[in-house]
Amino acid sequence: MGAKILVSACLMGHAVRYDGQAKPLHHPVLDRWQAEGRVVAICPELSAGMPVPRLPAEIERGSGRAVLQGGARVVESNGHDVTDAFRRAAENALALALETGCRYALLIDGSPSCGSGFIYDGSFSGRRRDGEGVTTALLRANGISVFCGSEIEALAAVAG
Ligand code: SF4
Repeated sequence: MGAKILVSACLMGHAVRYDGQAKPLHHPVLDRWQAEGRVVAICPELSAGMPVPRLPAEIERGSGRAVLQGGARVVESNGHDVTDAFRRAAENALALALETGCRYALLIDGSPSCGSGFIYDGSFSGRRRDGEGVTTALLRANGISVFCGSEIEALAAVAG
């Protein structure tokens, strides 16, 4: 069997995003992975006990790696510090990936957890910046390759 892939639950159609919505990816490669029993779905934020819906959160002055190193915080739009919950979310995702043997992940871009190419800049004004979320940073630090939804074909080229 091909490699297992850790996948953002919202990308699998689960309505777990902060706004109560899903963001399903309809792609034949994803359908094939599912049929082959290779998809391991998780919403890191839900796994850490966050509710649906919840306030939007952004990383202040930094990226996921800085959050892991204690150099940046994750805050909700009302200013509430949710850094610890986002760290727990990342640890849960890493634990599941290791337990199930996932060496690859397909995660939604832009999220303060799952982003891999861009995140938002912490001002809650819709401004993007290059960077990765907290879960992505922890997965990458542990040798798991993270791709975003639009990179699914590149992922299929390496994962089968
Ligand atoms: Fe989707 Fe990841 Fe956000 Fe959960 S944490 S809603 S899986 S982007």
